[in-house]
Amino acid sequence: MAPPTHDPHCIFCKIARGELPSARVLETAEAVAFLDINPLNPGHTLLVPRAHHAHLGELPEELAAHAGSLLPRLCRAVKAATGAQGLNVLINNGRVAGQTIEHCHWHIIPRFANDPIHWPWPQGHYSGNELSQMRSRIESELESAIRASSEARS
Ligand code: AMP
Ligand code: ZN
Repeated sequence: MAPPTHDPHCIFCKIARGELPSARVLETAEAVAFLDINPLNPGHTLLVPRAHHAHLGELPEELAAHAGSLLPRLCRAVKAATGAQGLNVLINNGRVAGQTIEHCHWHIIPRFANDPIHWPWPQGHYSGNELSQMRSRIESELESAIRASSEARS
């Protein structure tokens, strides 16, 4: 059975269905964009697929492609409207990554020189053959996912 695409307890499902108010800037049949109520900088915007999928990995590819297709124009509009010098576009995916609302969404965050947002995150490095082992692990995960989906289709 297909997973439910609406969670009656989810804030973003309620906003998408018009059951809770939001400052909408864009809507399509499959997605809505509105201002984050607690912005990192003024103009911080959220892009939210209407269907309830908790995490990016669960989003149907067509819906992810649709949301992705809206990002360039949203970025241009937010940048022009706020006078931002740049933007961070990101998804917090999972609680450990900072996701607080488990309905997949993109943040479009206007950035200004000397604003209080701290970047970059601390970066590490690979030693020995760690990088090539990691590359192989991810590649084989992708290959088994492709095999599984073509077996499911046949
Ligand atoms: P995340 O932590 O990635 O799950 O992001 C959730 C975001 O939703 C946060 O930045 C919140 O400020 C924002 N948020 C929560 N409730 C609302 C709401 N009712 N309207 C607009 N934004 C909201
Ligand atoms: Zn939802």
